[in-house]
This record gives sequence, C-alpha cells and structure tokens, in this order.
Amino acid sequence: MKIICIGRNYAEHAKELNNPVPGKPVVFMKPATALLVNNKPFYYPEFSKEIHHEIEVVLRICKNGRHVQPEFAASYYDQIALGIDFTARDIQDECKKKGHPWEIAKAFDDSAVLSPFVGIEEVDPKQIRFELQKNGQPVQQGTTSDLLFPFEEIIVHVSQYFKLQVGDLIYTGTPAGVGPVQIGDVLEGMLYLKDGTKRSMFTCPVK
Ligand code: ZN
Repeated sequence: MKIICIGRNYAEHAKELNNPVPGKPVVFMKPATALLVNNKPFYYPEFSKEIHHEIEVVLRICKNGRHVQPEFAASYYDQIALGIDFTARDIQDECKKKGHPWEIAKAFDDSAVLSPFVGIEEVDPKQIRFELQKNGQPVQQGTTSDLLFPFEEIIVHVSQYFKLQVGDLIYTGTPAGVGPVQIGDVLEGMLYLKDGTKRSMFTCPVK
C-alpha cells in the first residue's frame, strides 16, 4: 500500500503559502508508517516547532491500473475518507530553500491521519464539502468543486508514473486555512454527505 499526496491543489491555499498555482499536480508520497487511524492521538514530534494541519479528502483506490485513461478514471476509486496531512512547515521551508526533497517534513510517523471510509455513493465527488475544526472552531473549510486538479485528473496523472494498486490512498490536497497545532489541541474532521448530513469523521487529540 502506498500513500500518494497532491500539493497545492486549491488556488487559495497555494496563495496563502506564496506558492505559484501549478500547471501540473504536485506529487509526493508517504510510507504506510505515516498512517494514524482509530482516533489515536498525534504526539508532537521533537524535530519541529511548527507542525501544521492540512485537512484533505482521501480517495481509496479499488482497482489496479497504470496509464489510466480519463474516461475510466472515475472507476478507480469507490470510497473516500477525510485525513490530515500533518506538515512540519519549518522543515519544509528549509527543504524548499535548499531544493531538497520534502519527506522529512511530510512523511514522518503518524503524519497521515485517516478517518473511516464512506462509499462514493454517499457524496457527490464533484462537490464534497468538508471542514476541520480545532478545539470546536472551524479553521479550514473546503469543497472539491475548487480543486485545481479534480479526482479523475489526479488518477490519470499519477498512474503515468506509479502503478495504482487496490488499497492505495490519494490525499487530494488541502484548502486554505492551514495553521499550527499545539499540544492540547483537539482536531476534528467533518464531512457533509449528499443528503445534507454533517458527519464527524475523526477526532485527533494533539499530545
Ligand atoms: Zn497536503
């Protein structure tokens, strides 16, 4: 199983970090050891002083495939989840400055919070509304209608380089509003289903 992540996939988020809006998806990966599931706490790592939350919609790949063609891309995922792409922003800034890879800032242990999945039929993939709350206050709100590269384009693009396999996860990028977390914070991911229900998908205490 691999975790593929897309960076700068919402224009307002690219802007808030002074990054250009990309012409192609920005792709990076996390190892399976990055997963944090079952509402387990996130322990603030010693190597960073600036861990940011990034709430994201996550796709679960349900078919093996490479070089997926656009007309078939929608059939490659059948469930979605919400997740957090925890980012050591101080370390990422250093890596960017030096032109170094991002893994130590993005792919560390427990950096990929993941909620349980919901079937794709429970949402409208083209306009999934979601939200991150920090200590009960909304800090990030997004809708997938603002994606620069929608789900199908992501699948077409990444499958040119990496064979997609059943169970792979794709973190599809974060909307604006990223910011620091502190020990004692409680993060909660909320998803709006097609029928209008707002569902709490995960809780992640920071310890
Ligand atoms: Zn991200």
